Amino acid sequence: MTQKSTHHANKYLEKECVILGGGCSGLGLAYALSQQQQPIDCLVLEARANYTHDKTWCFWEKNATPWTELATCHWSQWSYQEKNQAPIIHTSTQWRYYYLPSIIYYEKIQQVLKNHSHIKLMLGQEITSVHGETKHKIPNNDYPWLIKTQSGLTVKARRVIDTRPNHHTKSILYQCFFGIEINIKHLSTKTVALMHDMCSDHHGFRFNYILPISPERILFEHTRFCSYPIDSPLLKRECIQAFKHKFPKIQLKYAPRHQTIEQDSLSTSGTVHREEYGCLPMGLIQNDTPSASDMGGISAGALRAASGYGFRRIQKWASQTARQITQENQKMLNSQPRRITHQYDPLWQKKMDALFLTTLKNNAEKGPQFFSQLANKLSSDTLVRFLSDQSNWQDLIKIIWSLPSWPFIKQSLRREKTV
Ligand SMILES: Cc1cc2nc3c(=O)[nH]c(=O)nc-3n(C[C@H](O)[C@H](O)[C@H](O)COP(=O)(O)OP(=O)(O)OC[C@H]3O[C@@H](n4cnc5c(N)ncnc54)[C@H](O)[C@@H]3O)c2cc1C
Repeated sequence: MTQKSTHHANKYLEKECVILGGGCSGLGLAYALSQQQQPIDCLVLEARANYTHDKTWCFWEKNATPWTELATCHWSQWSYQEKNQAPIIHTSTQWRYYYLPSIIYYEKIQQVLKNHSHIKLMLGQEITSVHGETKHKIPNNDYPWLIKTQSGLTVKARRVIDTRPNHHTKSILYQCFFGIEINIKHLSTKTVALMHDMCSDHHGFRFNYILPISPERILFEHTRFCSYPIDSPLLKRECIQAFKHKFPKIQLKYAPRHQTIEQDSLSTSGTVHREEYGCLPMGLIQNDTPSASDMGGISAGALRAASGYGFRRIQKWASQTARQITQENQKMLNSQPRRITHQYDPLWQKKMDALFLTTLKNNAEKGPQFFSQLANKLSSDTLVRFLSDQSNWQDLIKIIWSLPSWPFIKQSLRREKTV
């Protein structure tokens, strides 16, 4: 059962596996473990007391998965547009771009775990300390990990998987965005504006992203690729300005605080129902001290460096990690479990993404040109495969040929710490 609690003074538990953080990766792993034949005694510790619809996950997929089933809409057409130029429209017969509101994901997995006998989720458990002792130091220690939470809970574990974000990680660029979900009447839902009004200024490369969720609702997101993080208030101001510029006839106003989207289905055009902000690392600069526990999530490299997309990669990581944990568990019942390893990217992809990002960072004014050339010269499927980690070697050659070569050659001759 999902356990919500802040009263755990001196409560003590022993678990086979503890997942630190119950966000996209932590819940994804718990779900994947729940689908394994062999039960694992597992606990997810999450700081939040409740889940809310805090973000939207969009991703491309060709085949049906549990997550495409949960998605509330999908599109086969999307477009790219340099500021003041005509849009470049891509249509795919194979790939669909899915939209999954985070609250649906959180509720689905909570429901699955409620009915599961071995995997539990505890909300309101902010982890305050995590200590691991090696077998070498304590020979007969079957539970070498000790985790403490703010509410007084102590958990001993054989294995720990840490999916909490590390706010000290550095990256080549940061993808910073502010989005507003707004009521708008009579809008075509056919095409997602993936990167529109692309341009650059003193902060770097920027664009708008418009997701037509229904004929009456859009998610309008203002996005920047920047060499430093940008805070939410500045981006919010820019987002509202960009929206007014795009839709000058629509007056923006905020919905009353406690009104839900459903209650307001007839409200007037321009009502803002939800906001979302993100500042995502693009191209992590690796920390030289490896972590003691198994890692997942953004600080372990869950986001694709060149695009910031992560949902699909997280689900792949979750399935592979769940299989490895189950196999290791069967083999090593009486000894300390071996580390679980996962390569989100092959080395060539890491290097290629790092070169792309450093070139973009040092030539931000050319950002609109880079992306519109990719959109102009590549087929929609080639570009989607690139963004979704599915590129083959023919795709790579096409990508390299479609970009202007000189900035990339110059960048590859410079020495800059990346991967
Ligand atoms: C607004 C937004 C929109 C996004 N949209 C997309 C998209 O459309 N497509 C896409 O592919 N990717 C998207 N991403 C990127 C990525 O998929 C998400 O950030 C995803 O949530 C990352 O998963 P995660 O598990 O690493 O981190 P999170 O989902 O943030 O999970 C980390 C969890 O750890 C918990 N935690 C932190 N500290 C503690 C502590 N001390 N104790 C206990 N728990 C703790 C947090 O509460 C959180 O629940 C988006 C990101 C954001 C922010």
